[in-house]
Amino acid sequence: MARKKLQTYEKKRRFEETPEPKGGEKRGTQERFVVQEHHAMRLHWDFRLERDGVLVSWAVPKGVPMDPKTNHLAVHVEDHPLDYIDFEGEIPAGNYGAGKVLVWDHGTYEVEKWREKEVMVVLHGERVQGRYVLFQTRGKDWMIHRMDPPVDPEAEPMPERIEPMKATLGSMPAAEGDYAFEIKWDGVRTIVYSSPGEFRLESRTGRDQTKQYPELRALGRELGSHSAVLDGEIVALDEQGRPSFQRLQGRIHLGTEAAVKRKAKEVPAYFMAFDVLWLNGRDLTGLPYTDRRELLEGLGIEGERWRTPEHQVGEGSALAKVSLDAGLEGIIAKKLDSRYVPGKRSREWLKIKNYRSTEVVIGGWLPGKAGRAGRIGALLAGVHDDDGRLVYAGRVGTGFTEAELERLAGLLEPLVSSSSPFEGRQPPKVSHFVEPRLVASVEFSEWTNSGTLRQPSYKGLRDDVEPSSVVRTPG
Ligand code: MN
Repeated sequence: MARKKLQTYEKKRRFEETPEPKGGEKRGTQERFVVQEHHAMRLHWDFRLERDGVLVSWAVPKGVPMDPKTNHLAVHVEDHPLDYIDFEGEIPAGNYGAGKVLVWDHGTYEVEKWREKEVMVVLHGERVQGRYVLFQTRGKDWMIHRMDPPVDPEAEPMPERIEPMKATLGSMPAAEGDYAFEIKWDGVRTIVYSSPGEFRLESRTGRDQTKQYPELRALGRELGSHSAVLDGEIVALDEQGRPSFQRLQGRIHLGTEAAVKRKAKEVPAYFMAFDVLWLNGRDLTGLPYTDRRELLEGLGIEGERWRTPEHQVGEGSALAKVSLDAGLEGIIAKKLDSRYVPGKRSREWLKIKNYRSTEVVIGGWLPGKAGRAGRIGALLAGVHDDDGRLVYAGRVGTGFTEAELERLAGLLEPLVSSSSPFEGRQPPKVSHFVEPRLVASVEFSEWTNSGTLRQPSYKGLRDDVEPSSVVRTPG
């Protein structure tokens, strides 16, 4: 009887290639179940119940639900042989279901009801215990529903949004031993929301940027059955392997999926994970930094496109020197006992910069001379003063690549305006003005007494910053 049930299973597989079992094991004495985590083209969990000499099976894209409030899709698939119950291994590329298979949970179960369209069981596993019902909705589509109270009654749903905590600009604290030090990444601050079958990347203003970075999606698979909210930075690297905001910028403004894919090959993005804010039903923001860091490292986020950069306890001056020598932006000092305060700029996190940097609103440009004749020579920068007026903050004439100058010309052209957006002091007479809609990031040495930037250098556009929010900062 089992042999006949296994025809589809056997037909789909080449047993001389796949390490999966051929079948042949006789029925056990007790009904067993297994949930296998299957890293196939799409990550899913295979839920299998021993019944009449085979494993009756469903593929569950979001895994076995742990809470009666959420039902999960369970796609009914072919019966598997009994010896599949402890199968773990790698199904080779080119074969059916290619990818890694791991046993996620196993145990015994009791049948409460077994009908053609409805199966009710009580599971006794290591991770999952309790009563479940599977019921057919249409064709091969079934649902799996937990009938008992949640596995973890204290588990809370994943928050919709956690605003990133911000660091205050500062200098090296005297008590270096009270702090951990991390490299400051020059990219786009990003909060990752990941649970089985769902993955979202949000910018610091809450913009959904998942589609912009398709190569980072697989991070969700890497996290397996974990549900996590991570804090980190998306970066692109320059030829020297240093994070380059200007290179990443080419990834931010793309409209079509095809353009995103093309650019992802040219300028791949990396996710640097530096904090975990919520994990498997628990809010971690109230825990001290050291505890969150330990949990983060436990997740093992190390891959081709994502990493957990090291943190160093104490000896910040040494790391600051390393970052300066490497041409990096600076370092961040985080108080070892500090809690995560969403959306706040905290004094317990300090930005220690090698250069000052600030955001400015672009109010126009000066025409170029000599080599740049007929093109943009410098951008006119502005910041809002305490009364909310946009005031002139000087010209930014370096830091551009040729391609970036061209792109800027294209972006500024439709914004051309006959009047100056600046109030009070005006830039040189030959200026061209635009509506103040674009925000640029600049590095500079200091603010002059007359309120302009000394030695500013262009770093890139910031479309995650509202022009109206740009005010004069110490940098
Ligand atoms: Mn599978």
